Amino acid sequence: MYRQLIDVIPAQETLEGGGIRVNRPFPTPAADWFDPFLLLDEMAPTTHAPGGKVVGVPPHPHRGFETVTYMISGEVEHRDSAGNHGVIGPGDVQWMTAGDGIVHSEMPSEHIQTEGGTTHGLQLWVNLPAALRRTTPRYQGLVSSDMPTVRGDGWLAHLVAGELFGQTGPADSHTPITYAHVTVDAGSAIDIPVPNGFTALAYIIAGPADLGEERATAHAQHLAVFDRSSGDMLIAAPAENAVQCMVLLGQPIDEPMVRYGPFVMNTSEEIHIAIDDFNAGRMGKIPAAGGTTKIHKPQEHLRS
Ligand code: MN
Repeated sequence: MYRQLIDVIPAQETLEGGGIRVNRPFPTPAADWFDPFLLLDEMAPTTHAPGGKVVGVPPHPHRGFETVTYMISGEVEHRDSAGNHGVIGPGDVQWMTAGDGIVHSEMPSEHIQTEGGTTHGLQLWVNLPAALRRTTPRYQGLVSSDMPTVRGDGWLAHLVAGELFGQTGPADSHTPITYAHVTVDAGSAIDIPVPNGFTALAYIIAGPADLGEERATAHAQHLAVFDRSSGDMLIAAPAENAVQCMVLLGQPIDEPMVRYGPFVMNTSEEIHIAIDDFNAGRMGKIPAAGGTTKIHKPQEHLRS
């Protein structure tokens, strides 16, 4: 029995950070979040000229959740206020637990800046339960060769986190999730077992794909939302084209969630505390980087 497809949501094209073009399936006015997933951005393929203008995300804070960056092509360089530094390339991952609070920057690598190149990747935000919101910040830099490639009949999955067909991804997540980059050959299909009650999403990078019991069509830059209750996730590629997608499976945390810009907490009061802590410099700073702009408080009470 295949899990039912309940929605197909188009990504909205938007600008992030210093002007990065992203395709964002959520949050948008049409879809806020899919517990425990708070945000998904596909950093659209962007070609950088050698020695050209650098467009990235300069230093900014986070508190209360985890950010997961996965590269398909090109390189991005991460620096943060805890002293972590890493450059990730195709198939690599940086898994940052912002927890209690961190300031980080995400920029095209030095190599991309001087030699030019194309960057394409994804950033996922994963929620934390109240008990772990202010956990000590942590950084996991994972290279492609750390991750198992699970192979089946006409498909393969590069497994970042969680379990898939008896294999386990190397990322240590605070909540049970599975995150994988899946490729399905033209005319083939993958049938992914999903634990009952888990949120089940597939973001189509290259398509179209035929999904679920109904074999409904989902085009590229669309998010397929499957029913939470039970059944396998079916992703089929039509005879005409292969499919490339990110598969996101996660156990809902099922707690109130309040977000404001780069902070995600359980209550509006906790958001105000996060803003005060950041503005007072208590989330640290990146040595040798410029200062950060203060964040203004919301005028209204934020609701979950
Ligand atoms: Mn960030």
